[in-house]
Amino acid sequence: MIQNRGNDLETLLNEIKALDQRYFMNTFGNRTPLLFDHGEGSWLIDHEGNRYLDMLGGIAVNVLGHGNKALTTAIIEQASKVLHVSNLYYIESQSRLAERLCQMTDMDKVFFSNSGAEANEAAIKLVRAYFNKRGESRPRILTAEGSFHGRTLATAAATGQPKYNLPFRPLPPGFETVKFNDIDDLKMKMGTDVGAIMLEMVQGESGVYPLAPDYVRAVIEFCQTYGSLLIIDEIQTGMGRCGSFTASAHYGIRPDIITLAKGLGGGLPIGAVLATNQVSSAFEVGDHGSTFGGNPLVCAAALAVLDEYQRLNLCSGAKIKGQDLMEGLRTLAGITAVRGIGLMLGFDVTKSSAIQYKERLRSQGILVGSVGEKSIRLLPPLTIEDAEISHFLSVLKAIDQEL
Ligand SMILES: *Cc1c(COP(=O)(O)O)cnc(C)c1O
Repeated sequence: MIQNRGNDLETLLNEIKALDQRYFMNTFGNRTPLLFDHGEGSWLIDHEGNRYLDMLGGIAVNVLGHGNKALTTAIIEQASKVLHVSNLYYIESQSRLAERLCQMTDMDKVFFSNSGAEANEAAIKLVRAYFNKRGESRPRILTAEGSFHGRTLATAAATGQPKYNLPFRPLPPGFETVKFNDIDDLKMKMGTDVGAIMLEMVQGESGVYPLAPDYVRAVIEFCQTYGSLLIIDEIQTGMGRCGSFTASAHYGIRPDIITLAKGLGGGLPIGAVLATNQVSSAFEVGDHGSTFGGNPLVCAAALAVLDEYQRLNLCSGAKIKGQDLMEGLRTLAGITAVRGIGLMLGFDVTKSSAIQYKERLRSQGILVGSVGEKSIRLLPPLTIEDAEISHFLSVLKAIDQEL
């Protein structure tokens, strides 16, 4: 149970809240009234030492949890040598990371960005450049209802949820949504003017909904029939989250383009767009660029993250731990529709609102995400321990029984 906050933390929190309200654009609204001082493993700790089990992992970013030694050391070492040099020069950690990531995703080439949205933006540019240079008119990109691809204008237009793009009209043209997991709707909308289908293997933002294997097979078939490219947005599903390094590998497919971000830097901002040789060749000298993208610091961090993946077997760990978590959730009376793959899990609550469950969990020192009225989502660090999963399940069980 979280202790009543003493005056110091209360005062600091109120001060920060007032500054946020006064000076920060109101995009995040009333934030959860928590202010963390530091983290250790799967736990976030406030200024008074209250500990919170982080089952949301910075929304799939803190794949190694908090305060990972190897990651911290790599960042400090690189920071003490050089933080940034421009992409006018060769960058050792960038080249080494490029090799590792291409090998781990079965892709041929990579470009580094600073965020997920920018990685998707690059993927969209790559598709447009690819067909424009071949002299083919393929202006349409199909994305799924309920999808989330980012907050830039193009990626917001690609996002299949009107609340993310309607306020920003006029939107970049060419994006159309298809019904989620609906083969007939996709069939109707396919054509030789479709440059790409862009999908998440498991939709995250809308409440954790995996694509059906049948649907994925149909997507591959349509892409072949119509000569369209397949972009898989693995910004949330990638980095071992679904028990394989990419969710595409879990489904047994090789897309033309994969995007990564979130967990890649273990907390530092780095994204990546990866593609086959054929598609990558559409980017020629000067076609794309970035000031910060792939700088020495973030690439050194990402390399340390990948070393830890190997040392700790995090991909297969995510699969096993995800199964344990899923099985545990399925035994709870007030919980239904447990879904997801690996450590990307969602479920619906029946006894009260998702927000009620979330707040009760918070008062017991556990952080989760909620989506809409009835869904909870979990994206814990891949380093989460079995005892922490048990702790989460027993606290949730007690809350579920109380409600
Ligand atoms: C988070 C996310 C993005 C956007 O990434 P940012 O780093 O916030 O720009 C895009 N696609 C998916 C699937 C995501 O989960």
